[in-house]
Amino acid sequence: MGRAIIVHGGAGLIPPERFHAAREGCRAAAEAGWQILAAGGSALDAIEAAIVTLENDPGFNAGTGAVLTSDGRVQLDCGIMNGTSLDVGAIAGVERIKNPVRVARAVLTSPHVLLVGAGAEEFARESGFTLCDPGDLITPYQYARWQHGYRPGDGAHAGAELDALLAKRDAKSSANGHNAESEPVHADDTKHGTVGAVAIDDDGNIVASASTGGRAGKHLGRVGDTPLPGCGFYAEAGIGGISCTGDGEDFIRLLLAKRVADYLATGLSAQGAATAAIRLLGGRTTGEGGLIVLDSNGRVGYARNSATMAHAFMCDDMPAPFAGV
Ligand code: ASP
Repeated sequence: MGRAIIVHGGAGLIPPERFHAAREGCRAAAEAGWQILAAGGSALDAIEAAIVTLENDPGFNAGTGAVLTSDGRVQLDCGIMNGTSLDVGAIAGVERIKNPVRVARAVLTSPHVLLVGAGAEEFARESGFTLCDPGDLITPYQYARWQHGYRPGDGAHAGAELDALLAKRDAKSSANGHNAESEPVHADDTKHGTVGAVAIDDDGNIVASASTGGRAGKHLGRVGDTPLPGCGFYAEAGIGGISCTGDGEDFIRLLLAKRVADYLATGLSAQGAATAAIRLLGGRTTGEGGLIVLDSNGRVGYARNSATMAHAFMCDDMPAPFAGV
């Protein structure tokens, strides 16, 4: 058994000029998690650090820089699972949480599994988190895409409300002395760029997580696979951990993350299980996507049927993380 971490930055279509940003974003996340594992820290802490790194990178469709709903909001989904205790924490449809993985982790230690919308935000507040303004999560680049790209129509009806939110956010960021902006790593307008991670620590604890803004232009209230255990993520001690990205409805239909765990349990390797699940996705649905896997020995697998899937991983026997698209 060895320590290991693998992260993804979403399946989809990354244009060559964005390969570098996608790889480096994933590498930074894997490094953030690895530092914790290498110091003897827990897989839970490593996953939180890795996912926070990706949620804070506006190039990915999670946290700040997430895609907008059809009516111009950011609604975030996230889930995390501890394979030893089988505890799960997930939140969906939240608009005022900068780092959903932190709140999902707080849900994991509560009696609940999944909290949605205003209730999830209320739980976050009760748990000591500060809620952000919804506009803090919207980057000008994603706003422009929503206005001119994936949103049917000209964006007029929600424009005034959004402009006010963005003006407030911009005033805040120039007061803080930063206004850094980066384009999303993905080129396709309606998908993808979800982030995810799986880690195993010194004690053999396996934790899996995924975090997303969902599909661009999604209906208000739409929830995909990302916060649903067994669909967008799954972890079970002695078996492995999985994090998915892609057409969420199809991952839900097939309970794809749990399928990967079942393949591992029947003796397939991490890579064999990843490949088999993506073959199933393509065979039984028209869905596109990818997933990452760690087995209980810390062996890595990943597969996709999309054009690209940004990813990075680091294991005990490697000198530095490997990153690719
Ligand atoms: N699976 C996510 C969802 O359907 C999207 C993605 O992975 O990009 O919400």
